[in-house]
Amino acid sequence: MQTNFTPTLPLLFWGGILVASCSQEPAEPVPTEAAPQATTLEQLPDSFAIGQLTVYNAFREQMLANRTVPMDSQRIVDNVYRRHQPLWKECYAMAFGPDNAHLFNTDTGMIHWNERLYRDERRVLDSITTLILSQQVDTMFNYHVNRFKTLDYIMPAARISLAFTPLTGIGFGGCANDQFVYELNNPEFDVAYMLKAGIPHELYHIVNAGALGEAEEFRAIDLTINEGLACYFVWDYFQGRMPKHEAVEEMSASDWSYYLDHEQEIYRRMKPYFDDTTGDNPLLDNEGYGTFPNAPRTLYYWLGFRIVESYLSAHPGTTIKDLSAMPYAEILAGSNYEEQLLH
Ligand SMILES: [Zn+2]
Repeated sequence: MQTNFTPTLPLLFWGGILVASCSQEPAEPVPTEAAPQATTLEQLPDSFAIGQLTVYNAFREQMLANRTVPMDSQRIVDNVYRRHQPLWKECYAMAFGPDNAHLFNTDTGMIHWNERLYRDERRVLDSITTLILSQQVDTMFNYHVNRFKTLDYIMPAARISLAFTPLTGIGFGGCANDQFVYELNNPEFDVAYMLKAGIPHELYHIVNAGALGEAEEFRAIDLTINEGLACYFVWDYFQGRMPKHEAVEEMSASDWSYYLDHEQEIYRRMKPYFDDTTGDNPLLDNEGYGTFPNAPRTLYYWLGFRIVESYLSAHPGTTIKDLSAMPYAEILAGSNYEEQLLH
């Protein structure tokens, strides 16, 4: 699924429950569902930073504010709204139309919907919060911070709120680098998987977009490689603890087999659309066009992953980090993918 509010880069998402599997010894512990000890909201930090990127745990503030009746409005104003005002005032207030703008561009609007959302959706919010806490999300955040520190990427300044929102539709994305959100109550996403794999996936997109600079337009193959890079990065990020199929939209092993079984045909039938810049073509919208009706998940993510994988195997010593600053056309040309596949 593609979000609609990302003019600078495409941000894409998926759902499902992650089951981590270990194929080699990890260099450091990664949080898994095997560790049952839950944290509490109070134990969570209200934000954490990865280089110049800040993640706000807005949901923590929203839940704590609603522990009292009436709600602690000041906490909403200070810790949800004003702390990350551009997200609400410039992104949500614009993206959801003039009729809804008042919800996001005033203190009273923000207070009102936060009160109403908790009153009306309390069960949903409580259960998502319980799920997040059961995932040892504080450990996971630490893992992300430390892992990115180790990887030493140049992380552009960016701000992300993890928040409950009264309207959903952005998912995990935003209108600008200082206006990112992950909508925790967006029904299309699986919270546990998104917090674990979605964060590094999206951060790679931010790094990649920062390194390549603004582009006038994207060809379908550019978006394909763009997603392939982010998926490959996630696989690499977990240092062998996540199978490739899980790193690509959390596919199953049999999903992956489907693609391998049809790889030549997929390439042959999709190649004619590589240069399309309309965004409306069978490569980017296999579901809509039905070219491969039985293909699981998103076809072009998988194809992008294979092209990236092919490039890296053709260039020993090159890393996914090196590719984050390489033009997509160069990655395709150097991948040798067609030659390996068809000859
Ligand atoms: Zn993506």
